[in-house]
Amino acid sequence: MLSFEDFRGQSAHIGQLQSDFAAHAFVHAYLISGPRGTGKKSVAQLCAMAALCRGEGANKPCGACGPCRRVLSGSHPDVHTVLPEKGKQSIGVDVVRDVIAEVSVKSFEAATKALIFPEAHRMTPAAQNCLLKTLEEPPQDTVFFLITDQPGTLLPTIVSRCRVIRFHPLPTQEAEKRLIALGEKPQDAARKARMAEGCVGQALEIDEGRLELLEQLTNDVFSVHRPGDVLSVVSRYKDDKERQRQAMDLLEGIVRDVLLAQAGAEDVSLAAQAAAYAKSVPLSGGLKLSAAVTRARMMMASNVSFVSAFESVLLVISEEYAKWPW
Ligand SMILES: [Zn+2]
Repeated sequence: MLSFEDFRGQSAHIGQLQSDFAAHAFVHAYLISGPRGTGKKSVAQLCAMAALCRGEGANKPCGACGPCRRVLSGSHPDVHTVLPEKGKQSIGVDVVRDVIAEVSVKSFEAATKALIFPEAHRMTPAAQNCLLKTLEEPPQDTVFFLITDQPGTLLPTIVSRCRVIRFHPLPTQEAEKRLIALGEKPQDAARKARMAEGCVGQALEIDEGRLELLEQLTNDVFSVHRPGDVLSVVSRYKDDKERQRQAMDLLEGIVRDVLLAQAGAEDVSLAAQAAAYAKSVPLSGGLKLSAAVTRARMMMASNVSFVSAFESVLLVISEEYAKWPW
């Protein structure tokens, strides 16, 4: 089982949360914000467990008592996870109204009730207004966890009623250690930690296929030494939409690492081809490449095809290679 200890590196408030919840000294609403995969939801769950735990020891949650086990398995009647209804993108006002009505009746098991919104930004404005009324007169012994990586989409009036807890990614080497502790192969842990920029949860989602695509893509983009090489590389990516989406994400990471290497960062482990580019072109070439990727993103957002967007990036690489001896 995960413990508060596991998340100490991700927020300055972990120790405070643990002691507040174990002592039943929590406020009625928390806004937990930070990038995806930094442990926000796990910590909200741990807080609920700590409040509900019936373990004997001083260290809460114990993870072994009935309430702890029920929270872990998602079957505790006083812990509600609020998500969009099946097939919907947003959380409507009805969903919020229903769950608030449910927690307003007497609790089933314990004195504390917890509502966890893992994607609070999905609430419609009407749903947020409905929640706001409840936050203005919160039911007794009920705690709301609003979790989001987009805090700007929440009404300021909601934010002002929450205690804000910020989560952040781990430094890459810390993330790597954490991944190994969680059972990741050491040879993959470093790469995944870097690809996910220290967000351990995101790193855990990276599968073999994505690692292979990264390798292939790095090989491909930096093999474009002349404009004439562009077409054959693009043709390898022209059919598969999912692969294209992943490729554009990965490209951003590759370019970021090239820039870091050019700027003298020591803990960047670039693939040989990327390292060659980083070395043979000056920083201006890295910056041009970075701008090209940003532009390609914008092109795709305005419905330009992946092929054209990708071509424009590859042309920049070939131009840079042509400019500098390699
Ligand atoms: Zn327990």
